[in-house]
Amino acid sequence: MLTKKNLIFLGAPGAGKGTISNIMIAKYGVAHISTGDILRAEVAKGTPAGKEAAVIMKAGKLVPDELVCSMVKTRLAEPDCANGFILDGFPRTIPQADRLDAVLAELGTKIDCAVYLKVEDSELIERLTARLNCRGCDAIYNKRFMPPKVEGICDKCKSELFQRADDSLETAQNRLSVFHQQTQPLIDYYEKRGLLYTCKNTDKDAIAAELAGILE
Ligand code: AMP
Repeated sequence: MLTKKNLIFLGAPGAGKGTISNIMIAKYGVAHISTGDILRAEVAKGTPAGKEAAVIMKAGKLVPDELVCSMVKTRLAEPDCANGFILDGFPRTIPQADRLDAVLAELGTKIDCAVYLKVEDSELIERLTARLNCRGCDAIYNKRFMPPKVEGICDKCKSELFQRADDSLETAQNRLSVFHQQTQPLIDYYEKRGLLYTCKNTDKDAIAAELAGILE
């Protein structure tokens, strides 16, 4: 059981937000809200929002606040979020964080903790450019640090693994600079409100154990 159950995972691309989210949702049954996953699903479906987002995502830039905020608002109102949720990749700007507060206030709830996964840029580039994602489930692998048992195949659901279009070296570098410019100010934002927790570990299992200690 989590006593702090409404969580934000803050961190640069490749910091492990998705990987740690997968561990936490399996352990605690909280909802996982990844704006990147929601946007990629819209792109795959070819919806107007997906078409608008596709070009921006490919360039490693942020899609407009209005678009992601309305997606998150809809998702937070779903019943499974009442057990707690992990916001993975949202908010990414101060206006998004302000908007999140307003949405949660309307729903009669609030954020309990913003967990910051801090990793050096050089390590992030190595991780991003070797990352592999599963087409069938949300599993995430890494060619070097966490390879699948059979090359190109998901251990869990046996689907094909692929490299995200925005994990190319050039786009990964753009995404890191966007993180430093637009998302990093959120660390201060949540620290000032007494909600920030900066992880001491960088290994996924060590982070999961560390978070159990402060959130349960
Ligand atoms: P992620 O899977 O979190 O790395 O997100 C992939 C891409 O989706 C980002 O590089 C952005 O283009 C877009 N995206 C995801 N979340 C947001 C957000 N909160 N605000 C703006 N753009 C986002």
